[in-house]
Amino acid sequence: MSIPWLMGKAQTVQGPIDGTELGVTLAHEHVLMDGSALYAEPSASSDKGRAFRPVDWDVLGWLRYHPFENVDNLRLLDEDTMTQEVMQFKAAGGRTIVDQGNNGLGRDVNALARISRITGLNIIMGSGYYTANSLNPAVFSKTVDEIAGEIVRDITEGVGLTGIKSGLIGEIGTSWPIHEFEKKSLLAAVKAQRETGAPINVHPGRHPLGPITAAKILLDAGADMSRVAFSHIDGRVRTHEGRMELARLGCYLEYDLFGYEGHFPVFAGSDPIDLPNDTTRIYEIRDLLEAGYLDRVLISHDIVCKTKLVRYGGWGYAHISNYVVPMMLKRGLSREVVDTIMIENPRRFFSFV
Ligand SMILES: [Zn+2]
Repeated sequence: MSIPWLMGKAQTVQGPIDGTELGVTLAHEHVLMDGSALYAEPSASSDKGRAFRPVDWDVLGWLRYHPFENVDNLRLLDEDTMTQEVMQFKAAGGRTIVDQGNNGLGRDVNALARISRITGLNIIMGSGYYTANSLNPAVFSKTVDEIAGEIVRDITEGVGLTGIKSGLIGEIGTSWPIHEFEKKSLLAAVKAQRETGAPINVHPGRHPLGPITAAKILLDAGADMSRVAFSHIDGRVRTHEGRMELARLGCYLEYDLFGYEGHFPVFAGSDPIDLPNDTTRIYEIRDLLEAGYLDRVLISHDIVCKTKLVRYGGWGYAHISNYVVPMMLKRGLSREVVDTIMIENPRRFFSFV
């Protein structure tokens, strides 16, 4: 079932617009976010004192290796700072930012609408639930129908009494192994997709099998896989064959950690996951292109902490436009290919069906 007034349109916090108006789009960002729940206590006693320090010069070097071990680093709460940061994307030619924040990530719908109005950028807002560890366990007793109902309401009526509506289902958080509530959350996403025609974005558990495991749950529930994107491919699926297995299902593969070059180790349990650098990301995207899956690639920076902001020495929201696109062109991807990845694929994915 689709919603007549949304068909072919993308839904921004300022209302539906034609998919062709999205322009250059960052498919997975966080404009305002409270990631305090994702804080991990440092193991070394000497580091524990740094965990509650404000992000400033004295901890920046340490944070490069321990981004999730400092609470302040996980809080993108200052509206003026975030407005200035996203304006850099606009200045670089960007038009649309997808804020994947939802329940668990401190979604602030009114602030997103204000930032969209001030900057003139389109902002598409998420819905549904992030990972179980980001949530109050009181929500775990919700049924699939209840969760699906909430998502459908966010899309058709708006969040709470704001009238501000979500334009996607996601990022739906899953852990490794998948938590029971997260399974319900995935099933609810499929149900809500069937009722609205909205795209689904999944945050896979931190394991090479995270995406395919979530994909099988979605498939069994009858999801339209051509309307599903798997986030963080560059932090999860590190073999070409693993990526092909996902691509053959018809879903989107999202390289959304551009700028992040592995200064700190990423682990799946005790096994290290090798985070690629930007050049390797580009080569992997070229491999997908050669395998016939160019129309299934999305890219972004997934800005989740202060140290990724320009203000704190990071690369910010304009990194792809200003630095990655020239790298792509230099490595043989044509302007047409770049436009497919940054304009055409997001237009298709974020337009309701
Ligand atoms: Zn994520």
